[in-house]
Amino acid sequence: MGIPTPAVAFTAKFSSTRTVVRGIGVDEVRGAFGGEILKTANTLAHHESAWQTQTGIAEDVWHALLDGNQRFVDGTMKQYRVKAMRESLFGGQRPKAVIIGCADSRVPPELIFDQSLGDLFVIRAAGNVVDAIGLGSVEYAVEHLSTRLVVVLGHDRCGAVQAACSNQKVSSPNLNSIFNELRPSVSECSNAGMALVRDVVEKNALRVAKALLYRSAILRTTMAKGDLQILAARYDLLTGEVFRLESPEPASHGALKETPIHSA
Ligand SMILES: [Zn+2]
Repeated sequence: MGIPTPAVAFTAKFSSTRTVVRGIGVDEVRGAFGGEILKTANTLAHHESAWQTQTGIAEDVWHALLDGNQRFVDGTMKQYRVKAMRESLFGGQRPKAVIIGCADSRVPPELIFDQSLGDLFVIRAAGNVVDAIGLGSVEYAVEHLSTRLVVVLGHDRCGAVQAACSNQKVSSPNLNSIFNELRPSVSECSNAGMALVRDVVEKNALRVAKALLYRSAILRTTMAKGDLQILAARYDLLTGEVFRLESPEPASHGALKETPIHSA
């Protein structure tokens, strides 16, 4: 597929690209969470070469998702034989990717990646944050369904992120539990207006991607074996394009302060 130029100029600390860069690696985990998981990071470091070279299956899946996204952008989506697919999937599933996305009605992963029944294992909550149940769902897909790619998908103009950026008083503890997960990303971004929202959307997607490893021994172990790739991406609400996010520069790692994710 072609590699289109992002429609919107990106000026935040992270750059966006539809080309493949890399996922969340050992250095990022070590940098983000410091000594708390240094032992784990050291263990992972022994497998770093494996991490860097294990991209075969996961990268193929990512490219398949990007191909589907291009069809979505172009309006040339496949006509799936849903009845036959439904019947063929009666006995079980082997989803090709886990998508952690926002509950926003404009960002349905199956549509924007032009996938069908049985293709995606989707976990959605406002702000694409993950609580313990969401994380357990990811672990289930990776451990029991052999899914090899996890994508944390943020999106432009996310209402949850906008609310967190506005620092407005929330009307319930349940809503506050979402904003609690977003506020650390807000505090690390300094732009204003929609530029701030864009920055926080990307920062949050990267943070959630890293937190998956931080919080899950199953995911760390699977990645160390070279059987898992986790990456963050951003969906452009206007063009329909999905951009893979680059990891932050090493110098910025020390500024990341992870807070436990309790709920979403
Ligand atoms: Zn959203």
